Amino acid sequence: MFKKYELPYSFDALEPHIDALTMETHYTKHHSAYTNNFNGALEKADNLANLSIEEILGSLDKVSDSPLRTTLQNNGGGYYNHNLYFSILAPNGQSSPQGALLRQIEANFGSFESMVEKVSALGAGRFGSGWAWLSKDSKGNLVASSTANQDNPLMEGGGLTPVLGIDVWEHAYYLKYKNLRADYIKAFWNVVDWAAVEKLYEMA
Ligand code: MN
Repeated sequence: MFKKYELPYSFDALEPHIDALTMETHYTKHHSAYTNNFNGALEKADNLANLSIEEILGSLDKVSDSPLRTTLQNNGGGYYNHNLYFSILAPNGQSSPQGALLRQIEANFGSFESMVEKVSALGAGRFGSGWAWLSKDSKGNLVASSTANQDNPLMEGGGLTPVLGIDVWEHAYYLKYKNLRADYIKAFWNVVDWAAVEKLYEMA
């Protein structure tokens, strides 16, 4: 049974960048639905039992039942993506990357600002619902990308492990930002906990 990441901060902690009602709805409704649906679907996928979430998302091609595979992809992705998203946000997080993570960002993007610009553009340019990502590849490089729906880089089989994700589904911002997705993305960077991203980078 997979469990939701437990928020160490309150729903209003990310105000004014991400509003309390959005956080509460996102965490208690959307994330709960993905988690429950994922756990329910896993009961019908015996060959995925005892695998980690990362292994499951990398092994979806082993599920021969096509509707079940789609349910696992959408809800397993939703489960993983939201756990990541909520865990890299914090009201008083470390406000910029440091050390090895900063050096890698500079090596791959030129500067921190260029990386933010690139990932933001991918999120703003994603048509419909999806995510923008910063991931680590098997050689330690950082790569910016975007996926549709609740897909993520783990499903692509290219060895990418996400270390930061921006949810650009309308449910992540519409109550406050309405149609202005780019404003939400700009605000998102104010509440990233770079110490949390750094931990993911080190573990990936
Ligand atoms: Mn979401």
